[in-house]
Amino acid sequence: MASPSSLALLVAGVREWGMEEPSDAELEARYRPALEDERAALSAQTAQSADARQVVELDQQAVGRLSRMDALQGQAMQKGLEARRAARHRAIDAALQRFADAEFGFCEDCGDFIGHGRLSVDPCVTRCVSCAG
Ligand SMILES: [Zn+2]
Repeated sequence: MASPSSLALLVAGVREWGMEEPSDAELEARYRPALEDERAALSAQTAQSADARQVVELDQQAVGRLSRMDALQGQAMQKGLEARRAARHRAIDAALQRFADAEFGFCEDCGDFIGHGRLSVDPCVTRCVSCAG
């Protein structure tokens, strides 16, 4: 079976790939600031785009038919963007809640550590690469 030396090599290999499980405090220190920054940026964008999403109703009487179509298209685009922002906002809130529940960084299907590589790309991911695939 596995000799002590091959076990040591395996452990070294795991360390090298960054797959050892970090503590909840380490994970929170590493990933919470970026999540909070992104959430603040999303809230700011939502506030800034509120006017663009309202413009058609406000200008309905004042503008001609063609510019109204432009305005409707612009409004539809803004609403699409806002829907994506809202979905991302919910994903970030859910990630922040996982800090509180001491579940952040661990796969919701198999419970394994998701890995820093994957979390660095998107700290909102909830599954490890095997379960997500
Ligand atoms: Zn998994």
